Amino acid sequence: MIFEPEVEMMERGALEEVQSARLREMVSRVYERVPYIRERFETIGIKPSDINGVSDLWKLPFTKKSDLRDSYPFGLFASDRSDLLRIHASSGTTGKPTVVGYTAGDLEIFGKVCARALAGGGAEPGMLLHNAYGYGLFTGGLGIHQGGETLGMVVVPASTGMTERQVRLIMDFGTQVLCCTPSYALTIAREFAKQGIDPKDIPLQAALVGAEPWTETMRAEIDSRLGVRSVNIYGLSEIIGPGVSFECAEERHGSHVNEDHFLAEIVDPDSGEPLPDGEEGVLVITTLTKQALPLIRYWTGDVTSLDHSRCSCGRTLVRMAMVKGRTDDMLIVKGINVYPSQIEEAIGSVRGLTPYFRLLVDRSGTLDQLDVEVELSKEVFEEISAEFLSDEVIEADQLLRTIKDRAKRSIRENVGISVRVMLLEPERLPRSEGGKAQKVVDIRKVLVG
Ligand SMILES: [Zn+2]
Repeated sequence: MIFEPEVEMMERGALEEVQSARLREMVSRVYERVPYIRERFETIGIKPSDINGVSDLWKLPFTKKSDLRDSYPFGLFASDRSDLLRIHASSGTTGKPTVVGYTAGDLEIFGKVCARALAGGGAEPGMLLHNAYGYGLFTGGLGIHQGGETLGMVVVPASTGMTERQVRLIMDFGTQVLCCTPSYALTIAREFAKQGIDPKDIPLQAALVGAEPWTETMRAEIDSRLGVRSVNIYGLSEIIGPGVSFECAEERHGSHVNEDHFLAEIVDPDSGEPLPDGEEGVLVITTLTKQALPLIRYWTGDVTSLDHSRCSCGRTLVRMAMVKGRTDDMLIVKGINVYPSQIEEAIGSVRGLTPYFRLLVDRSGTLDQLDVEVELSKEVFEEISAEFLSDEVIEADQLLRTIKDRAKRSIRENVGISVRVMLLEPERLPRSEGGKAQKVVDIRKVLVG
């Protein structure tokens, strides 16, 4: 179902008129109420009256994460403190946390954009929603919670952790929709398997997963192990939280951006020049309706592309491709840009391997070396162990070599780089429950530093 068809199916011309009017109003408001941004406007010599609509967007300066840090905690807020109802913050593992605020109007929009996403993924009023995003300063838990209630669902605020209990609640309640990070969806899937529950007996029908980059390989695993049709939900706390964009269950090919609230552009990471449809670059978002923390051309750092072609679901909202990685995650190895997600995709197509891997980048002399440590699947590991035990060492060796060669070839063909592959036993690499695992160890940085 489509939650707000009058907006989600709006013709482009009408949508652009709405966007232009909202942009003008937002820019004036920021100019009047946020001295930090007004000074920047003055430095580059532009005034709100120079912005007539979306076609003037390029004239505006970017806002970066460092601006939020430099104006910590409330320097970019455009609302009085007494008008705020809620504050969220990023974990701040690297320096000061990023603080975001919401007025009553902001929270209403937050609920609506998350409701659109839930409906897009197949949720309906009256269904049960198991929300296993973290509740707290992180926007995921409360954002999806509010989206579920806005849509008229029954929300189970499970949060993360105690996976065994989560599985029991899903079974006992007959829950239809799951929301969590893709890695936690796999943790839940493993727990179902451990308890001997067959995917076809799991009541779940849909899963909305996001908050970290994931791949088609992980999607296939989530779908088959949980018996669901999983869709992507994208967002970031600086913009609002989850609900910036979402995949429709019909196509699952790009996430529809809620463009009446969030204006999306793709720009060249080096020059900042806007790029056309289909070309990959950094996603830049301008909030059109946010009151407490309106952001002009916010540099998300996420690498993706846009697609304005018609979608079979009927929504006219532009679609953004699955985020390939962050510009800050990108590795340059032997002069080639490598994103960890590309490696994940490449090894995902090799039988006998899991999506669990770690990249080690080193430099011997002047040459970069990329090593990929990847875990074997349980089935293959058991097969090999049995062969070793029964002295069929040559067969076991042959199988390992074949898997290794296939992984190397797949990475060379898909990423364009030669790597060394190290096969590990299952569950060897560290896991973080619901969190984000460290996938890259760049030894070059240690040496340079
Ligand atoms: Zn669609």
